[in-house]
Amino acid sequence: MGTKDIFAGSVITTKVKEVVAWGRKNSLWPMPYATACCGIEFMGTVSSYFDISRFGAELVRFSPRQADLLIVLGTINYKQAPILKRIYDQMCEPKWVISAGACASSGGFYNNYSVVQGIDEIIPVDVYVPGCPPRPEAILNGILKIQEKIVKEAKGKPDAA
Ligand code: SF4
Repeated sequence: MGTKDIFAGSVITTKVKEVVAWGRKNSLWPMPYATACCGIEFMGTVSSYFDISRFGAELVRFSPRQADLLIVLGTINYKQAPILKRIYDQMCEPKWVISAGACASSGGFYNNYSVVQGIDEIIPVDVYVPGCPPRPEAILNGILKIQEKIVKEAKGKPDAA
């Protein structure tokens, strides 16, 4: 009888960084940066109906120092751009960003002199969620994409979702 048979079903092996990633992906602390209508969808997303707790991301923070997932929802104008950048800079590493909705991702239909045409002009974005507005299910899907990215990064396979 080999070692494999003796421990069959009772032992698992892994790597420390993969265990850490497992903890991180299941305990994201999101901070919403909501400036417009998409923010209302985020309120629905964190309601009991959609049960964001299934993914361990229900602990919404309003301090960047306590958050590791920044979710930008709504139109970002150039006056707000330095504020958004500063909030991102205040978050501790590791940190991730979801750009939720057309306005955050591309300026949406506000193609004018005052609106940033996508927050990736200011900060790095890990996941883009389409929609105007994105439904709560789409925002939850964005969180799942972040979780996938965390696992891939731990396995040395970084991949923008
Ligand atoms: S993407 Fe649509 S719903 Fe979201 S902030 Fe822009 S206009 Fe509002």
